[in-house]
Amino acid sequence: MLNFDLNEYLNELEKLVNIDSGSRVPGGPDQIADYFEGKYTSLGLQVRRIRTDGANGPILEIRNRPETPCMDVLLMGHMDTVFPEGEAEHRPFRMENGTAYGPGVADMKAGLLSTYYLVKNLVEQQADLSFGVCLNSDEEISSLHSQDRIQELAAISDVCVVMEPGRKNGAYVSERKGLARFHFEVHGVSAHAGIAPQDGASAINELAYITLQMEALNHYEIGTSVNVGKISGGTSANVVCDYAEAMVDVRFDSMEEYHKIESAFQNFVAHPRDPRTTVRIKREGYRPPMRRNERTEAVIRLMNEKGAEHGVEMKWVKTGGGSDGNFAAFAGSAVVDGVGPVGDGAHSKNETMQIATVEPRLKVIFETVLALAEQGKKG
Ligand SMILES: [Zn+2]
Repeated sequence: MLNFDLNEYLNELEKLVNIDSGSRVPGGPDQIADYFEGKYTSLGLQVRRIRTDGANGPILEIRNRPETPCMDVLLMGHMDTVFPEGEAEHRPFRMENGTAYGPGVADMKAGLLSTYYLVKNLVEQQADLSFGVCLNSDEEISSLHSQDRIQELAAISDVCVVMEPGRKNGAYVSERKGLARFHFEVHGVSAHAGIAPQDGASAINELAYITLQMEALNHYEIGTSVNVGKISGGTSANVVCDYAEAMVDVRFDSMEEYHKIESAFQNFVAHPRDPRTTVRIKREGYRPPMRRNERTEAVIRLMNEKGAEHGVEMKWVKTGGGSDGNFAAFAGSAVVDGVGPVGDGAHSKNETMQIATVEPRLKVIFETVLALAEQGKKG
């Protein structure tokens, strides 16, 4: 039986949402880390606060049996939001007709709190398993500073549960596309467009050529897409442009597809259309695809059973958006994602969280984890 008080939860959620914890807000994610460090410590768990070079916020790592080499379950979440400083003051937490509003309410302050109550129940009911919680501070900016640690922890975990919000229709997430973001820079040769245009090598032309070539790399049927989402360059109409840049987003379902795209990109560098131009590419974000394996299927079946017992309609989807579940799956762990309360409008001013979904979804994952503990004892 889950011991849970929704009013207490909502009071705490209000506090958390009203703390600005944007990935780059100085001290923002740290305030969330302070809050949970205290709460997990008072449950008698080991809490480590890890700082990585260049990161704004810490990684909070919680273990019940730090001495065990492997974990049965790793719960994952992020303390950062996409919002700037001052956002919470602007539009603080509020509730209306069963819906909660505020920056990061679903993505993922509610998920963080559900994680805590899940753990609290596991501790109080002395569940016989080794578990951990990993909370990072840079998920919304590609987890560059935390992905190595996430992969290390996932590699020693049987099952990873990502407490990101459930989809608007209540669906859980079983698979995610891989994604990579690239910054393209083209340097050309500037010249006067009237007096000596032939002396110039236009960076704009080169980048435009590359952009059109990229269109041919789309392969939607198998999940590959390449999008030039932002492009700029040049100074004036009468100057042959010597610098242009673009941001490119790539999505893929397999590493094979990713490598194909990457080598096509390297080809743009190695063989520019105009040899007087130089093309540079920098990868600025990357998540491998999150695929389901046999172990994932077994966890999904278990969750479906628990859902049926609690009248939660269990739907599973694949999404094109990434999460830290991508890294966990890449490390070989079974991953279920979108396990937190149901939300909508993440990353926007219209973000909402459905209050009625908090407790039933918490029950489903709590009982699933208990069942995994039972299985572990038998196995
Ligand atoms: Zn999130």
